[in-house]
Amino acid sequence: MTKVLVIGAGGVGSVAVHKMAMLPEVFSHITLASRRISSCEQIARQVEQKFSAKIEVAQVNADDLEQTIRLLDLVKPSLVVNLALPYQDLIIMEACLKVGVNYLDTANYEPRDEAKFQYSWQWEYHDRFKEAGLLALLGSGFDPGVTNVFTAWAKKYHFDQINTLDILDCNGGDHGHPFATNFNPEINIREITAPARFWENGDWQERPALSDKQSFDFPEVGERNMYLMYHEELESLVHHLPEIKRARFWMTFGDSYLKHLEVLQNVGMTSIEPVKYDGHEIIPLQFLKAVLPNPGDLGKTTKGKTCIGNIISGVKDGRPKNLYIYNICDHENAFSEVGSQAVSYTTGVPAMIGSALILKKEWQGAGVFNIEQMNPDPFMEMLNQNGLPWIEKELDGPLSF
Ligand code: NDP
Repeated sequence: MTKVLVIGAGGVGSVAVHKMAMLPEVFSHITLASRRISSCEQIARQVEQKFSAKIEVAQVNADDLEQTIRLLDLVKPSLVVNLALPYQDLIIMEACLKVGVNYLDTANYEPRDEAKFQYSWQWEYHDRFKEAGLLALLGSGFDPGVTNVFTAWAKKYHFDQINTLDILDCNGGDHGHPFATNFNPEINIREITAPARFWENGDWQERPALSDKQSFDFPEVGERNMYLMYHEELESLVHHLPEIKRARFWMTFGDSYLKHLEVLQNVGMTSIEPVKYDGHEIIPLQFLKAVLPNPGDLGKTTKGKTCIGNIISGVKDGRPKNLYIYNICDHENAFSEVGSQAVSYTTGVPAMIGSALILKKEWQGAGVFNIEQMNPDPFMEMLNQNGLPWIEKELDGPLSF
């Protein structure tokens, strides 16, 4: 019997729980907890209708350590899957240590009052998890997550030396709204409006947000503009694969999305500084989230595909080699399978896969680990079996930019 506790009943949590329910031989008991129990009940009802599987539900505010510990004590899971927001990572890790439970997440810790994310806060827990004999697996989503595993796979089977890594994230879908974000708007906008950083020759280089644009012809999607951005997996990948000379992350945005974002920024709506309004203190970005479409509801209207993958250049057997590994995910197929659009799908499926590998003890360890430190083979196999098949292609040359 395996007990898993998922915290966070949003877009990603919903997909992860649906996919877990499809593998009852691995996930025999699933509890879903969130700040609002109504979010959990709605997902549990959907899962029961689709797969006749029973999901337990619970209410928890994971900003409150004592409450979170009480929930873990009550449920007694083997693994906590944190699919709430990055703000809750450290509290949930503390609770796991206190109760003696393994931990998994998809996004690294970010303090609420500072738009800054880095792994150091979570890496500091390594010794405590190690001493407790527990595993904390960080970043088991798509990016971070699958893109890290693609890199580990490429290193294992395709390269003696990796020189450059470019992660290309394209959402070629159209949801029909003038402006909406693919996942939690607050986290998404904080990430996009931060300066772009990339790794080059042993140091971080910084550029203004959205200032470096390139065009790329994405398989099954077509030509799109993509922008240089900082993304958290760059930090762990250059740490664990120090041979990488340059690592960059690119994301596509349409002109209309950027125009809306520019206006919202110009009028102060993306700020995280509190302002007084009608006697209340509000944070503009959190207010903006409240009026934007809920990413979890975009599935009904979204058409098109995502294409996310890595272009890696390096050396194999003394010769230059260039490889593109990617996945294509269709928004409408994702919706018909689990009722969510592809961005939640491409994150929730790898969260389920990482969890399954821990519960099956195919991935083991004591301490805090990033996903690229694990054996990529069973993860790559499960991607193919669980809705995120990947394609690898040898390219004639490296990227021209
Ligand atoms: P959502 O906003 O849709 O969902 C987050 C859920 O967490 C909400 O349902 C919310 O609860 C719950 N929650 C928030 N605060 C608390 C709290 N204090 N205690 C308990 N529950 C809480 O976000 P997504 O599903 O889009 O994203 C989930 C996570 O996945 C985020 O950390 C995001 O950064 C990450 N992510 C990672 C990606 C990757 O590829 N690695 C890609 C996309 C997202 P409620 O509804 O109950 O109020």
